[in-house]
Amino acid sequence: MERRNPANLDEVVAVAPLSTRAEVREAVAAAKAAFPAWRDTTAPARGRIIAKAAALMTEQKDEAARILTREEGKTFKESLVEVQRAINNLEFMSGEGLRLAGQTLPSEQPRTLAYTIKQPLGVVSAITPWNFPVAIPVWKTAPALVTGNTMVLKPAGLTPLSAIKMVEIFTQAGVPAGVLNLVLGDGKDVGDELVQHPDVHAISFTGSNEVGGLIYAAGARKMKKCQCEMGGKNPIVVLADADLKLSVESAASGAFGSSGQRCTATSRVVVEDKVADEFVSMLVARAKEFRAGDGFDENTSVGPLVDENQLETVLRYIEIGKKEAKLLLGGSRVIGGAFDRGLFVAPTVFDHVKWDSTIAQEEIFGPVLSVIRVPDFEEALRVANSVKYGLSSSVYTNDAAKMLAFIDRIETGMTHVNSATVWSEAHVPFGGVKGTGVGLRELGCVAIDFYTELKSVYIDYSARKQ
Ligand code: NAD
Repeated sequence: MERRNPANLDEVVAVAPLSTRAEVREAVAAAKAAFPAWRDTTAPARGRIIAKAAALMTEQKDEAARILTREEGKTFKESLVEVQRAINNLEFMSGEGLRLAGQTLPSEQPRTLAYTIKQPLGVVSAITPWNFPVAIPVWKTAPALVTGNTMVLKPAGLTPLSAIKMVEIFTQAGVPAGVLNLVLGDGKDVGDELVQHPDVHAISFTGSNEVGGLIYAAGARKMKKCQCEMGGKNPIVVLADADLKLSVESAASGAFGSSGQRCTATSRVVVEDKVADEFVSMLVARAKEFRAGDGFDENTSVGPLVDENQLETVLRYIEIGKKEAKLLLGGSRVIGGAFDRGLFVAPTVFDHVKWDSTIAQEEIFGPVLSVIRVPDFEEALRVANSVKYGLSSSVYTNDAAKMLAFIDRIETGMTHVNSATVWSEAHVPFGGVKGTGVGLRELGCVAIDFYTELKSVYIDYSARKQ
C-alpha cells in the first residue's frame, strides 16, 4: 500500500505491506506460543521493560513526531504532544508492574484465607484508528503487556509508519519475540481475522461507531471480551455568566486543532441567548487567526485532512450545513498554489444551528463548529445530551450550582469545567458512554481491568471439614 503525505500528495511517505489472513493467523500463533513465558515473567520485570520503552520513546520523540506529521498531517507541535502522551502512558503503566494487586477478604469460615489475583487473558488484539496513531496503540499495548498478555496490533491502514516505529521501540526495550506482533492492512480482512480467530481472547477497538458496533456484535457471538471506544459529538456549554474569552479559546482550539480529527474535538457550542451575539463575534474573530497549511510550517495551526475520503465527507457535511444553518466562516476547501496538492479545509463556523439538524447530530471529524443558541441552562443541558454519542463535554460558568448540576446530569464519560473538551491525562480514566463507549475504560489504573481476569481463591488451613 502506498501512503502519501496529506499536506502534499506528490510525496510518498510509505510503501507498506498489506498482511494477509494467513499472516494474521501466523501472528496469532506467535503470540500464543510466546504467552507462557511472558506470563511467567514477573510483573515488575515486565514493568521495567515498559519503563525502558518510555525512555527510548523520549529519546526518539522528535523522530516519532516527524513520522506522525508526514503520514497523518497534524502539526509538528501537535505530534510532539501526542508522542508525549504516549510517553506519559508508558511511564504510568510501567508502575502497574508493581501495583498488580488483588484483595484479601475476610472469610465466613474460620482459618480460611480468601483473596483475589489478577491474571492475564492470553492473546489479545488491538484495532486502532489513524487519528492518534502513536498514543492509542501505546495506551492499549502498555497495559496489555504489563499484565502479562501477548498481543497482535492492527493499526489503521493510513498510518503504518507510526505503528512500525512504536513496535520497534517496544522491541528495542526488550519485549521478547512473539509478545507484540504487528499486522498491517484493511479492516475487512486483517481486522476481521483478529475478531474471528478463536485464539484471540479479547479485542480492544478504537474507531468509528459503525465498525465498533460490528466488532462488538461479532465479539459477543464468540464470547470475547470487547472494549470499543468510538466517535464523539462533544459540546461546550457557554452559560450567560461565562468567561467568554476563555470559552472562545477552548471552542476554537477544540474545534480546529488537529483539523477537528479528534474523538474529543469540540463540534458543538451550546450558548445561552443572552451572550450568544457577543460570543459568536469573538469566536469568528478568533477562528480567523487559524491558518491551514503544512504541519511542518510553524505558522500552521490547522493541518490537512487525512485522506481524500475524509475530505469528501467533511465537504459533504459542509454543503448540508449550508442548507441547515447560517455559514459565518470558511465553508470550503483551501486551494491555490501549494494548497492544491494537499487536503485542506478552512476552519468553518455555522451559527443558528438547530439541535436536531444533521450537522448538530453526526460526527463530522473535520474543522467544523456548530453554534446552537438556547434560552436557558435546562435547554442547554437537554441539547447537550440530545446526541447518540457521549465522550467529552465542557461547561463554562462560575455558578457553582449549575456547574454541579451539569456534572451530575451530562451524559458523557468525561466532562470539564471551564476547560477544553480535548484535555486528558495518562493516569485518569478515558472513555465514553452511550454510542461512544462499550466495555471497560482505558487509561489510568482501571485500564488493566480489561486485560485481566480476577481469580478468587479460598485457602482452608483449619485441617477439618467446614
Ligand atoms: P474506523 O472505524 O474506520 O477504523 C478503525 C480501525 O478498525 C482501523 O484499524 C480499521 O482498519 C479497522 N476496521 C475497519 N473495519 C473493520 C472490520 N470490519 N473488522 C475489524 N476491523 C475493522 O475508524 P477511523 O476512521 O480509523 O477513526 C476515526 C474514528 O475513530 C472516529 O469516529 C473517532 O471519533 C474515533 N476515535 C475514537 C476515540 C475514542 O477513544 N473514543 C479515539 C480516537 C478516534
